[in-house]
Amino acid sequence: MENKDGSLLSAASTVAPATLQRPGHKLRSGVAVVERAALTATEGDLSPPQPAPGGEESAVPNQFTGPSFRTRRERFRFDGHKMIYHLDRVAAWQRGERFAPIHIDMGLTKFCNTACIYCYAVVQNMSRGAMIEREALLRFIEDSGRVGVRSIGFIGDGEPTLNPAVYDAAVLARTVGVDISMATNGLLLDMERAHDCLRNMTWIRFNLSAGSTEGFRRVHQSKGDNFTLLQEKIRALVAMRKQYGYACTLGLQMVLIPENFDQILLEAELGAALGVDYLVIKQCSDSEYGELGVDYSLYAQAEADLKKAEALSTADYVVQVKWNKINAAAETALYQEGIRKYDICYGTPFLSQLSGNGDVYPCGPFYGKKRFLMGNIQQQSYYDIVMGDRYWAVHEDIRTWVDVHKDCAIGCRQDYLNKFLWDLKNPPEHVNFI
Ligand code: SF4
Repeated sequence: MENKDGSLLSAASTVAPATLQRPGHKLRSGVAVVERAALTATEGDLSPPQPAPGGEESAVPNQFTGPSFRTRRERFRFDGHKMIYHLDRVAAWQRGERFAPIHIDMGLTKFCNTACIYCYAVVQNMSRGAMIEREALLRFIEDSGRVGVRSIGFIGDGEPTLNPAVYDAAVLARTVGVDISMATNGLLLDMERAHDCLRNMTWIRFNLSAGSTEGFRRVHQSKGDNFTLLQEKIRALVAMRKQYGYACTLGLQMVLIPENFDQILLEAELGAALGVDYLVIKQCSDSEYGELGVDYSLYAQAEADLKKAEALSTADYVVQVKWNKINAAAETALYQEGIRKYDICYGTPFLSQLSGNGDVYPCGPFYGKKRFLMGNIQQQSYYDIVMGDRYWAVHEDIRTWVDVHKDCAIGCRQDYLNKFLWDLKNPPEHVNFI
């Protein structure tokens, strides 16, 4: 600011006398700057600030430096990965060692008692009656513990409860130190073995993609009575868990397709009424040939209802949308063309997938492609498969020859891991300037 004569006005001449004694800094926003004199006066005093005499405002600035609890802890992390909790395996990978997958998704059968219209397994040669035999399954569970697998999900391919050995496999897994879980349509869940499930499984997820009888018939192509039956079973499990103090998490998963956009809020409300811990809503995974015909651009139409559903979350009930995957197709022009955010798939040694006939593959989308078949647990020990040359030659084949932009469908199971591992392998410059 200039005087009439052109000389500069001093800053002190423009402020009130009280401030003049302690000018400090002024903010452009006009927000009051912390009163440092007050800080000095209360140094070492950690008691909460007291209201100023005759006023609501505190005379002492906020000195709280602990957690604010404004950012809620994410309870399940459905829309991401947990690799940072397994850095020992990452280090083994960086050293070029052979190591067991942290997690395996595996089918126990190759057939199902429902015919959900979004089912990925139908493009992978479902075969009635095909399943992993009891003896091979139990041997596999023991081998998994021995080789160092940390968790197994009975997920994918056919319905797991159609394999009668599923319950004994869960009991055995706990004794050999492998966390176990199951995704099921729930209709054939043997309630006589409910205690074994709740006691030994870390979580059970019900594949339910509708919130009304009519929607259930439409999406799962199953009888309306089955919708009632499923709700009864879930309610019974929730009650048993409470009564006996089991830790098993119980949840619902909705696979989002345009045919069930009208069911989003109905199912979110149903989950709360059933007393489950969560509802997760995920994208429908299509094959690399687009055989299920999913038009990802339509997901934008569901956005408002998805947000309303998430708003139904409470302290005890989480509704979470896998936005990263649902938005993937629309995220960038590159993604729309199927281009991924990494060039090489590094994730398969950490997360493996097994077909319901015992075939071991690096990933579910490659089921049935003999070039990537690593072995079969009905004929071989899983320990030998993981430590053998063939297993690692297939991983190398993927790293070297698979073009993830062309050979893979959007949003496969290893996608989150691949982004993390790609970044690790391709650091930016100046990494020490964190
Ligand atoms: S990126 Fe491709 S190869 Fe890797 S896991 Fe996904 S589908 Fe399989």
